[in-house]
Amino acid sequence: MGQINVRDEIIPYEERRSVRYRRITLSILNDRVRISAPQNVSKRQIKELLKAKEDWILKYWHIKRQKQDHSVKNFTDGEQFPFRGEKLKLCFRSHDYRRIRVNSDGQMLIVSLPQDGLDSQSAETLRKIIIAWYKVQARNLFKLKLDDQAKRMQVTYRDFRLKDQRTRWGSCSGRGNLNLNWRIIMAPDKVIDYLIIHELAHLTYLNHSPEFWQRVKTFMPEYMTWRKWLKDHGHELVL
Ligand SMILES: [Zn+2]
Repeated sequence: MGQINVRDEIIPYEERRSVRYRRITLSILNDRVRISAPQNVSKRQIKELLKAKEDWILKYWHIKRQKQDHSVKNFTDGEQFPFRGEKLKLCFRSHDYRRIRVNSDGQMLIVSLPQDGLDSQSAETLRKIIIAWYKVQARNLFKLKLDDQAKRMQVTYRDFRLKDQRTRWGSCSGRGNLNLNWRIIMAPDKVIDYLIIHELAHLTYLNHSPEFWQRVKTFMPEYMTWRKWLKDHGHELVL
């Protein structure tokens, strides 16, 4: 399965060819966009169709993803949450404070609730506070890793921001500002390292030239493994 770039969004993409197909069909599936086309349709025709349908693709892809996202987690006791490549088990406790608190302890993701609120929290409230917890963890960890790797690579970045995007993992501006998607904290640490090295390498090469990839490789020889991991599993990193 490949991917297509629709207005800066990377979407998994599959192309099917068969003599049996009479015409080109474009469909939005749960985890990918699919084109079914007769054998004699050229690559260019398909490219043109994808281009002409950009708005449509994005619209329905987002609708699909939203529906899916909301069915991904129920925020119930014992449910598992990905975190730095491990699974944390959601566990509810009651405490004497009025505010809801989230923390992790070993393999547990603990949500402490006021006594009287133990059964009355909506999934949406829980989603919000758990995501807030993820973001705090992401900010702290990414900052540490960025500073570590920047030192190793002998580069300096200006600023770093946490982003909340569906399909973009990171970016680097010409002015040296880095953006990282908080969701990546759900991936194994090696994937986080790869992404950070990738963005820091953009401080030297603001493109994806062979020189750029060589630089990534210098600081992470096995980067291909983790790049592939992200391609294969990136869509799973949702709450
Ligand atoms: Zn890049």
